[in-house]
Amino acid sequence: MPRGMQINRLAKQESRMKILVQKFGGSSVADLECMKKVRGKVLAELKNGYKLIVVLSARSGQTNKLTEMAFQWSDEPDLAELDSLLSTGEQESTALFAMLLKDAGVKARSLTGFQIPVITDESFGSARIVSIDAEYLRSQLEIYDVLVVCGFQGCTASKRITTLGRGGSDTSAVAMAAALGNTVCHIYTDVDGVYTTDPRMCANARRISRISYEEMLEMASMGAKVLQIRSVEFAKKYKVPVWVRSTFSDEPGTLVTQEDEVMMESVIVSGVAFDKDQARVTVLGVPDKPGVSASIFVPLSESGILVDMIVQKAGRDGRTDLTFTVSRKDLKRSVDLMSDLCGRIGGQGVETDSNVAKVSVIGVGMRNHSGVAAKAFQALYEAGVNILMISTSEIKISCLIDENELPLAVRTLHDAFDLQDGETA
Ligand code: ADP
Ligand code: ASP
Ligand code: MG
Repeated sequence: MPRGMQINRLAKQESRMKILVQKFGGSSVADLECMKKVRGKVLAELKNGYKLIVVLSARSGQTNKLTEMAFQWSDEPDLAELDSLLSTGEQESTALFAMLLKDAGVKARSLTGFQIPVITDESFGSARIVSIDAEYLRSQLEIYDVLVVCGFQGCTASKRITTLGRGGSDTSAVAMAAALGNTVCHIYTDVDGVYTTDPRMCANARRISRISYEEMLEMASMGAKVLQIRSVEFAKKYKVPVWVRSTFSDEPGTLVTQEDEVMMESVIVSGVAFDKDQARVTVLGVPDKPGVSASIFVPLSESGILVDMIVQKAGRDGRTDLTFTVSRKDLKRSVDLMSDLCGRIGGQGVETDSNVAKVSVIGVGMRNHSGVAAKAFQALYEAGVNILMISTSEIKISCLIDENELPLAVRTLHDAFDLQDGETA
């Protein structure tokens, strides 16, 4: 959950200004043509009487390019300097877009995270927002009609530039709406809403008109990158209504909102998400005695490695195997730690597999229904998909499978729960 953000609102002086936050992702600002479409969306909301905070991502591909460049220059780029470099992607797009607005006669200016400021903690590369100076934003909106704000970035209290993790512009936008209070956030992207699964993976995917914060949080956590997880955490905590819609169409999109505003029909499962960023590590033949799990997971946690699924095999002859999954970027470090540990605790070796993926079915309706897991497992079995690991929560079931079987598994689960037919709002 997001740690509390200090909200510096002008409580007494709630002005009558109507403010809207719009966020446009990388593909929406990729080139001049796209930016002109974005300008059209901005002009339309100005006509509706709004003052606008327009949060932009870097132009598509730019953050990747800058990251590659850093690794050409340095084997292990300094994390603070890397953030300083990556933040230039958003500085480029906001400056260019502010120029376009000014050409159209709009009173606009660009703002970096540092200028506002958006204060974060010091976790370079995945910093968390601590506070946003909403008072300053409001004062600038007295002067300008549109503030074009760099997404994805902030700065520490000691004035170092930070970034919020990939996809972080979503979080910048929702956090600004939260900080301003009573403000709606429109997230514009290259799909016209949140679908029952990634429409690029499954042709039958159906747009959902309303989805609860809880379900969206699970979808995002399970790999649906249409919204960054932290943006949904902020939206839920500060009750920010978030619309996900397309820059390239006029469809209304999907409203992410509180559960009681999502009219639940008899929907049990509302989506299928997947995550290819998974790697499996098995520590073989560790002694089956108290303290062994702690000796494995404490060093992983101390190294900042997030462990996702965990399975312990039933012990035999005083020994057991422990399997867990991590992000692929953490695989090497995990294996190094486990190999070292194996020597010390008398384990029999470490095995890994990075050709795995996680597929999850999600739905708040699962809370009150049994049989969802059985149905999912049966459908995967009939499709010939082998399940390697399972984890569940109140509103989701996840299975680790062979990565090559992922498209089949997604379509199978989507069909099994008739997601192409239902309507969740
Ligand atoms: P942006 O650059 O605008 O932030 P992203 O690429 O981060 O866009 O997110 C949009 C992408 O999310 C879509 O192109 C789509 O492939 C993917 N996606 C994954 N799961 C879903 C889903 N359930 N609904 C809609 N899009 C999804
Ligand atoms: N530019 C950053 C990225 O590519 C942030 C974002 O697009 O949201 O991850
Ligand atoms: Mg994104």
